[in-house]
This record gives sequence, C-alpha cells and structure tokens, in this order.
Amino acid sequence: MNENFIIAGASHAASMLAPTLRQQGWQGRIIVIGAEASIPYHRPPLSKDYLAGEKTLDEILIRPAKVYEKSEVEFILNTSVESIHRDNRTVRLSNNETLSYDKLALTVGSKVRKVNLPGANLAGVFYLRDLRDVERITSYVNPGANAVIVGGGYIGLETAAVLNKKGMNVTVLEMMERVLQRVTAPVVSEFYTRIHGEEGVSIRCGVGVSGFRGNGRVAKVLCSDGSEFAADLVIIGVGILPNTALAAAAGLEVDNGVVVNDRAQTSDPDIFAAGDCTNHHNPIYDRRIRLESVQNATDQSRVAAGAACGKEVSYNAVPWFWSEQYDLMLQIAGLSQGYDEIITRGDPDNSRSFAAFYLKSGRVIAVDAINKPQEFMATKKLVALKQEIDRVKLADADVPVKELL
Ligand SMILES: Cc1cc2nc3c(=O)[nH]c(=O)nc-3n(C[C@H](O)[C@H](O)[C@H](O)COP(=O)(O)OP(=O)(O)OC[C@H]3O[C@@H](n4cnc5c(N)ncnc54)[C@H](O)[C@@H]3O)c2cc1C
Repeated sequence: MNENFIIAGASHAASMLAPTLRQQGWQGRIIVIGAEASIPYHRPPLSKDYLAGEKTLDEILIRPAKVYEKSEVEFILNTSVESIHRDNRTVRLSNNETLSYDKLALTVGSKVRKVNLPGANLAGVFYLRDLRDVERITSYVNPGANAVIVGGGYIGLETAAVLNKKGMNVTVLEMMERVLQRVTAPVVSEFYTRIHGEEGVSIRCGVGVSGFRGNGRVAKVLCSDGSEFAADLVIIGVGILPNTALAAAAGLEVDNGVVVNDRAQTSDPDIFAAGDCTNHHNPIYDRRIRLESVQNATDQSRVAAGAACGKEVSYNAVPWFWSEQYDLMLQIAGLSQGYDEIITRGDPDNSRSFAAFYLKSGRVIAVDAINKPQEFMATKKLVALKQEIDRVKLADADVPVKELL
C-alpha cells in the first residue's frame, strides 16, 4: 500500500506510465523526477508547429496538470536522478535529496549527438531537443536571413520546412548521397528533395561539414570540399543517443539502450524502463531494436505499468512514426530495414501523395505513406499478419485499400 514508485524522466513515456500505474491499481506514491522545467509536453511539435510559433506550451502539454493531480502523481522538476543505489533501493537527486523506491522506472529518453567541429560553440549554432532549444532558436529566426540545417533526417527536414515558411533562406547539408538515407528508400528521398526544392529549400547532399566560422556569432558553415555557406542560424540534427549512463552506472544491462524484456523490466526486475532509452526484442521482426518514437514510449509504458501492478502483459507492437513537412503528412508503419523490394502506389514524381511499401520475401514489412492514411492503417495490419501480398493490387491505386487485407 505504501510502496514508492519513482519515475526518472518526465516526458512521453512518464506521462503514460504514471497515470496508467494508478489505473492499474498502484496504491502508493508515484513520484516523477524530471530534469526539465515543465510537466510532460509533446516533443514532436518542437520541429513543427511549436517552432513555427503556431502553438503555445499549454497547447502542447500531453496532459493538463490536473490529470496528474487527480491520479495523485507527484512531480519534482528541474531535478535529475544522479545515481541509483540498488543495494538499499534509493536514488540520489541533483538537489542532494535521497528518495527510497520499491519500484523504479527509467524514462530518461535520448540526448542529441553533438559534433566535435571547430566553431560548433559559436552563438547561433543549435541542436533541437527540448523547449529551451526552441526558445533560443526563435530569437535567430528572421525573414530574409540564412539558415543552414546540418543533417537531412526527419528533424532537419521538418525544421527546414518551418524556417522556410518563416521567410528564411534555408539550405540543408547532408553528408550522405541522399536525405533520409538511413531510414527510407531512394524513391522517398527523391520525393522529399523535389518537394523541398519546389518550396524553395536548397538541399545539398554528399557534403561534409568541417566547421563554423564567425566573430562570436556564426556567419559561415565550412565544408570539407571547400564550399562555404552563409549562415545566421545553424541547426544541427545528426541523430540522437539513448541516455544509458544512469543505468550502466547502476550495473543494469545496457546494449545500444537499456536492455528490457517484453514486460519492460531491466536486468533488475524491480527497475523498469520505457521509451527512447530502451532496447527491446520485437517479436514481429524477431530482433532487438531501439526505437525513437512516441508510439514506442507510450505503448511500452503501458506494458511497464501493467507489469509493475502484477498484470499479464507483453509488449508486441508494430512500430509506427510520423513526420510533417509543409502539407505532407508522412506516416510510417513497420521497420523497413532488410527489405528486398519496393512497390509504390500513387505518383511520387508529380503528386504530393503516394505510398512506398517495403517488402521482404513477398511480405509487406513497412510503408512510408505520404498523405495516404488508409495505406498506413492497412500496413499496420499487413505487417502483423505476415501474409504474402498481391503485388499488382498493392501497386494499383484504384484497388480499394481494404482489398489488400
Ligand atoms: C524535434 C523532435 C521532433 C520529433 N518528432 C517526432 C515525430 O514526429 N514522431 C514521433 O513519433 N517521434 C518524434 N520525435 C521523437 C519523440 O519525441 C521521442 O521518441 C519521445 O520524446 C521519446 O519519449 P521518452 O519519454 O522516451 O524520452 P524523451 O522525450 O527524450 O524524454 C526524456 C526526459 O527525461 C529527462 N531526463 C534525462 N535524464 C534524466 C535524469 N537522470 N533524471 C531526470 N530526468 C532526466 C530529459 O530531460 C527528458 O525530459 C521527435 C523528437 C524531437 C526532438
């Protein structure tokens, strides 16, 4: 009855875990320790409508404060969990407080991968991960000024779209041959390159950034091929790393994320972990994965809450993700790695809507669906069903989606 559940990290995973614990019957205290100043907010808008200034912080809160109050969830904000002491089940906080736990969850997410390049500390060079980053970036957003985005991944491209809309001259520099190379097929990369070009964003691929120059404040981005780009604002989006140091120092198993089982338990059964910081086995793809998505953070947290309350639960979800750029809603279902065939539905070259299905041995394993919500929904089912698919019907946009199932 009086057992303490401590949650380290106050974001997507925690915002699902804490109230769900209460619903599942946890009777003791639930205390969420968050390094940021705010109760959990939706992180995706930071590169979309919140960056665009179209939403306020209140509008992006995942749940209003009163929901947590009603569930008797306590928050300690602006405070980090510094260490875990499994021998006496306590955590030490950055405010020097020590709290005891009966069960603990790590929902500490990820941090940005930083570049070690000359000039990377100049004013005007930013990363984008939390609210404070957006606040700092916003004062550099001026119509007619030059913005350079380093990295053509989802966050880089979304940010490019917003800054372009804000009237900035935007250039995206991508080291690889094409944008989104790590996560999509060439047809999807080509589609986004075309759309950004049509919108007025310049995308340069195969360009490695070698440093930044300016007098106190960034003025130029330097590239290893000798080219230079004028820049009043630089945003670096070159990936993230899971926050594993806390778990590793406590002796928990870590392997590209905090290793958890299908009940979201770490190698210590009284310590759970959920969200970006974890690495789990996905039964559909039969391999261990680390996901960077809201879906994983929330679904895995539901499982952690059930498991902590003694319920029979097991995490087995088709991963999904989305990205918004201009009027394009990209919805991704499944994981495309390892595909041996691509089938497109719709016209990627001339329209703003199509779906790229990823197949392996005749079975659909993933889709990138752009302004195609039905294809996205159907693929979630197709991936779970693991059935062979009729390729001709899949490619024919005139065949109703329900006939694919
Ligand atoms: C700009 C941006 C756009 C994105 N867009 C999308 C999108 O369109 N779709 C999508 O599915 N996903 C998107 N993502 C990814 C998504 O936001 C993450 O997958 C999600 O936030 C993961 O939630 P989480 O709770 O696991 O971790 P996080 O959101 O990373 O939160 C972890 C929290 O823990 C805190 N913390 C860390 N260490 C400690 C500690 N020791 N003690 C206390 N607190 C600590 C951190 O400060 C942070 O607040 C986006 C991410 C970013 C940054």
